[in-house]
Amino acid sequence: MLIKMKRDATGEQISSVINRIGEFGLGIRMTVSDGHTIISVTGSDDHFGTWTPRNMPGVESYVLDDEHVLPEKQIIDVGTEKIGGNKLCMIAGPYVVESEERIFATARELHKCGIPIMRGGSYKPNTSPYAFKGLEADGLRMLRSAADQYGLLTVSEVVGLSELAEAEKYCDILQIGARNMQNYRLLQAVGRTDKPVLLKRGVAATVDEWLDCAEYIISEGNSRIILCERGIRTFETATKNTLDIAAIAAVREKSGLPVIVDPSRAAGHGRFVPPLALAAIAAGADGLMIDAHTNPAAALSDCAQQLNFEQLGKLIDSARYIALAMGKTL
Ligand code: PEP
Ligand code: MN
Repeated sequence: MLIKMKRDATGEQISSVINRIGEFGLGIRMTVSDGHTIISVTGSDDHFGTWTPRNMPGVESYVLDDEHVLPEKQIIDVGTEKIGGNKLCMIAGPYVVESEERIFATARELHKCGIPIMRGGSYKPNTSPYAFKGLEADGLRMLRSAADQYGLLTVSEVVGLSELAEAEKYCDILQIGARNMQNYRLLQAVGRTDKPVLLKRGVAATVDEWLDCAEYIISEGNSRIILCERGIRTFETATKNTLDIAAIAAVREKSGLPVIVDPSRAAGHGRFVPPLALAAIAAGADGLMIDAHTNPAAALSDCAQQLNFEQLGKLIDSARYIALAMGKTL
């Protein structure tokens, strides 16, 4: 059961709801969304019998279905950005941080196109063990200083428990990659941090499995999760992965967590990125994460799927129209 308190519910009213739930032997988690305290009951609704919180003072509404992960639309504050609201969350940057010079040039370009969040991997879990593996802690430091120079926020992937402390120091958002979606220890560990988590969908994970992984993070106290659809494995080989546009709508029915789309990893090729990005916005995505490089041909890995900044600028121009049609801004 999820209980949404009124915006003006008093501390006393919130406590009496929590105490009542405690009398049934159940635990709770609390989050605040858009000024409402949301009380999420951990455990089965069966314990309540016929009781409901309907008539308790301060309660605005409740839902019984425990298949829903934070059903109220969640707005996640990161710096001055609000992810999940009417402004689309735009993230771009290289597949991997390659050098000080390149990441500063990238930050300058992002600042010019008004993209507030810079991505860039620094510990790359590539499919091939021989591909460029990233600059590790040095790369994170470069990402941070380039972002700071241009007033940007940062997101980078945490590949393991031993890299978490470093990532926490330099990143505003912690990314959990598709390959680690079900790394439960890692999910629990990021759940104990106070950083928002960008949770990629695993290549062979169902929407429910993906949401269960979000629950792992929430169960440790961190409900600031941004889901990211990045394509799943199908029989199709024309694209690197198959972007599951329907998943955006399917998640919407089950959770209020923001869902963004990474069209670059789904496409595998720059020319497919714009159509997928536009389709994602039209399907209701809360934002995009796009691979962008100052010179894709010279990129140290995954050159094919990275856009240059001229291409990214054009994409943003078209995206504004679709966003407008969806009642959103960019
Ligand atoms: C990435 O975004 O850099 C990445 C490796 O993505 P994924 O985990 O979705 O493959
Ligand atoms: Mn479930």
